[in-house]
Amino acid sequence: MTFPKISSLPGALAIAGLLVFPLAAQQRTVAITIDDLPVAQSGAGACAIERLEPLTRTLLAPFRKRQVPLTAFVIGSRCADELTDDQRRAILQLWQDAGAEIGNHSYSHRSYTSSPPEEYLPDVLRGDQELQQLTGRPTRYFRSPMLHTGPTPQTRDQLRAFLAEHDFQQSPVTFDNADWQFSFLLAHAIQTGDKDLERRIEEAYVPYIESVVAFFEKRSVEVVGREIHQIHLMHSNVLNMRRSEELLAMFERRGYRFISLEEALRDPAYALPNDYASGNGISWFHRWSMTKGMPNKGEPDPPQWLLDAYESLTSR
Ligand SMILES: [Zn+2]
Repeated sequence: MTFPKISSLPGALAIAGLLVFPLAAQQRTVAITIDDLPVAQSGAGACAIERLEPLTRTLLAPFRKRQVPLTAFVIGSRCADELTDDQRRAILQLWQDAGAEIGNHSYSHRSYTSSPPEEYLPDVLRGDQELQQLTGRPTRYFRSPMLHTGPTPQTRDQLRAFLAEHDFQQSPVTFDNADWQFSFLLAHAIQTGDKDLERRIEEAYVPYIESVVAFFEKRSVEVVGREIHQIHLMHSNVLNMRRSEELLAMFERRGYRFISLEEALRDPAYALPNDYASGNGISWFHRWSMTKGMPNKGEPDPPQWLLDAYESLTSR
């Protein structure tokens, strides 16, 4: 066995690179996080236990099948009127049985952009207390509703200090997307019995998510220099109940292995400087790139017809 001379190394590396590339494509990693438990935007009666239990079981089935390590963020006040404590416990148990770690998404899902810290921070604590009471366990992960992390440097730093003081860890998102816009419209289509619209929304969903994933894979290389352990955000709703099998298959086709949020956060990228302080909830890639002073690049939008339909419904 002889080693190549230094002068021939670039060529050798190029060949090695070609050989290694298909393998490297198999090494992509993503942590799946699901927000707005027990359920979001799924029509009237979604919180009733008779509907919520089968919805939750169906939503979780594709994740259980693949043993995807989930982190799931609960809104403390969501379904509080419809469910008894025992029923809420039973629903959370379904998630935990599927291997999900339960995280805190605050008690009442306030925006930190529009709520002052003296209202917002106690609401975070209340969410945690509620969860501890239901699960008997402390929560370590927190996710800011709407990814609003502070509109000014002062409020941003106040939240960071508060989370550190309580041993809560902020849960970033890299694959930020608008599944909630699809879900909003799907709930409307179901409610109005518009089967054609239902089908159109569902068929457009995973191709849209894939366009976002493909965009951020490239952006990851531009901003961090490599594809990092990604963190995907999705919501607990009928849309994902119907389309998670296809969503997970898309990730697998692109060479992803599913990892826990804990493992994802070990990627040093999540310690990159992040000076972002603004009212919008955006991907951490945008926060890092803006901190670095790079020109901004936005991810792909949902299809125009869907945005138009969303706009016309919400502006009524
Ligand atoms: Zn949320």
